[in-house]
Parts: sequence; C-alpha cells; structure tokens
Amino acid sequence: MERIRKRLAVLIVSALLVCGMLAGCAGAGDAPGTGKKEGQETAGGQEAGSGQDGTDVLQDAKDDQQNDLDTEDTADTKDLQEGTKTPEPSSAKASETETEKEGDGEAAEESVPAPSLDPETVVYAREEVVATASVNVRRGPSTDSEVYQTVSRRSKFTRTADDGTWSAVEIDGTEYFIASKYLKLESELTDNGYLVVIDAGHQGHGNSEPEPIGPGASETKAKVASGTSGCVSGLNEYELTLDVSLKLQAELEARGYEVMMVRTSHDVDISNSERAAVANNAGADAFIRVHANGSEDSAENGILTICPTSGNPYMGSLYGQCRSLSECVLDGAVNATGANKKYIWETDSMSGINWCTVPVTIVEMGFMTNPEEDQKMAEDSYQQQLATGIADGVDAYFGN
Ligand SMILES: [Zn+2]
Repeated sequence: MERIRKRLAVLIVSALLVCGMLAGCAGAGDAPGTGKKEGQETAGGQEAGSGQDGTDVLQDAKDDQQNDLDTEDTADTKDLQEGTKTPEPSSAKASETETEKEGDGEAAEESVPAPSLDPETVVYAREEVVATASVNVRRGPSTDSEVYQTVSRRSKFTRTADDGTWSAVEIDGTEYFIASKYLKLESELTDNGYLVVIDAGHQGHGNSEPEPIGPGASETKAKVASGTSGCVSGLNEYELTLDVSLKLQAELEARGYEVMMVRTSHDVDISNSERAAVANNAGADAFIRVHANGSEDSAENGILTICPTSGNPYMGSLYGQCRSLSECVLDGAVNATGANKKYIWETDSMSGINWCTVPVTIVEMGFMTNPEEDQKMAEDSYQQQLATGIADGVDAYFGN
C-alpha cells in the first residue's frame, strides 16, 4: 500500500511538472477558456448579480485607460444558456471585479466625456460582426453610459460605425454601442469556442515504469508503451501519430477550433495519465488520442475507436459523451478514407481514458501490420484524409 501511495505521489508531482512545462497548460488558471466547462458556466451565472450594475471589468493591459472596459467578465445568465465559456475561475473574476469597480469610480470623477463617436476617426460601414467575449451593449459610446444589455460571446450584430474605440451597432432598429475591441468581423472569426486537445500516441522512447490504470487503482500499466511499427513503411507508430495529429491540428484550427497538442516532438516522456491530465487541466471539450493498430494477423485492417464502458469505475459518468465522440470520429474517419469500419471498442483498460475528466476517444487509424493499410497511412494524402475525417467527426460531435 505504502509503495502505491508513494508512486501516486511521484506521479502527481511529475504530472504537475509536465503540466507546467506544456504551454497553455491549465493549472495556471490565467488562460482564457481553459477551465472546466461546468465550473465556468456556474461562474458565469454567479457573475450575473455583480455584473447587473453595469460595472465594467478590466480585461487586459490595453484597458489601462479605463474608458472602454466592456468585457466578458460581466457575463450574465445568457452565458449559461448558450454554454459560452468564461475566461477565469470565479474567485479571480470576483477580485478583478472589485478592483475595476474602484477604477470606474475614479474615472467617472475625472471626466465626463461626451458620448459620441470620435468624428476624427469614425468610419461608417455596414458589416456583420461577432462579440469575441461576453460584453456590455450600451446606450452611448462610453463606460458611463447605461448598459442596455450584456450579451454572450459569439453574439452577432450589424455594425454601422466604428471610431476604433467604440462601435455603433443596430438592434431592432435602434443604435447601441459596444467597445470595438470585443467585436470581430464575422468573416475573420477564427475560433468557434471549442477546445480540442490532441494526443499523438506514444513517443520516441516508451517508458515501462508502472502507473495506476486509473485514479485509486491498484492495477498498473506501463506509463507509455513504445507502440507498433509499419511492416512495409518502417514508420514507427509515434511518427505516424504525430504526422496525422499535426494535420488534424491544422484542420481543426482552420475550422475554428482552439487546439492544444499534448506533444509536438518525439523527444518527450509523458505518461498516459499525464496526457489525460493535460486535457483535464485545459478543460478540453474533446480529447482526441491518435493511435495506429497492430495485429498478429496481417490481413486485419480498418479503423476503430475506443471509449470506456458505461460502468467505468473512474469516469463512467462521461460514457455517453465518450461514446458519442467515438461514434462521430469513427464515422468521419471511415467516410473520408473509405477504410474498413471495424467497431467501437468499449474497454476500461486504457489509463489515458480512465484518468480523463473530459470526453475522450482513441482513434486507431488502421493496422500498421497490414501491408496495404500501412503503405496508405504513410502517404501524405491519406494522412490528410484521416485528419479531415476525424475533424468531420469532431464537427459532428459538436453539431457543427
Ligand atoms: Zn498506440
């Protein structure tokens, strides 16, 4: 027992270390959109009360003039309804709110700017814009103006004028104002609000040290296996998985997803539970683990996905989401490649699934032990088909 406890402690410490080394990894708590969704929604809801008075909240360093501070931190219950992500843990938000309340007061005493767009810089043009955060819609172009409503991230407007600081938008034929920095042309929108974490399976060298297969488990498995290799291509599985994962990253980013990679090089040592921790800490909306298969039967071929069973003792409550993600990704990959559709394997033997607190699937893209499939998977064009198909599956999962 004691040894297991020590191992767990070591594991947790090393997970934290790895986590800290990975850019954008959560724990930091200051990266927008990286908190767990449920928590964020709650936080957004809690904000509703304190945001009611129209207090504007400091968003970033550019806001130091304190004159255009309409931000998502004034999130109201619309965030809840639309599931919009809010950027920070509620505790951080609360303290920021207090700080900015004081700031707003000072600004109000110093000057009372006339609420009109700056005639020197204003540009009149009708264009479709989208809120990049939950923002205040005001009756005038000033933080002193009354808040008409607070809208959630991704709300759409027709903009009629923009002076660089404030934008005039039309709502039901009436003109209102939103801080320009929180509006983006719909055509330039690059982020659809979902975070996908991609784990390119395996790494340059496996690590056979044991780790528990799930939280609290006495059963252990190697931290990360060395994977299979191509019978014809000679590719290592860890090379193939990263090749496809990088293509998948590009594909998903092009479709507007925020993407975080567990690894982008072969020279890493990240155990399966640590990979799950990356996705967990980031608050991934979906965690895609990319692998290729191997079999003693060289005739075996095709794509399968893996998800936990409904009775998974570690994260069974996520079964429905994992199953749906696994179905969508399997269908997407099969449709895009024409490969043999195998099945969804439900198992509770995967550490990298068992440690997850976010929806996860493993996609086994094909058999590297099948000469034909191995050769295909080594081709750039087929890898792109796989990436496109998996991305189609992610789109389908989110209903995009
Ligand atoms: Zn593998």
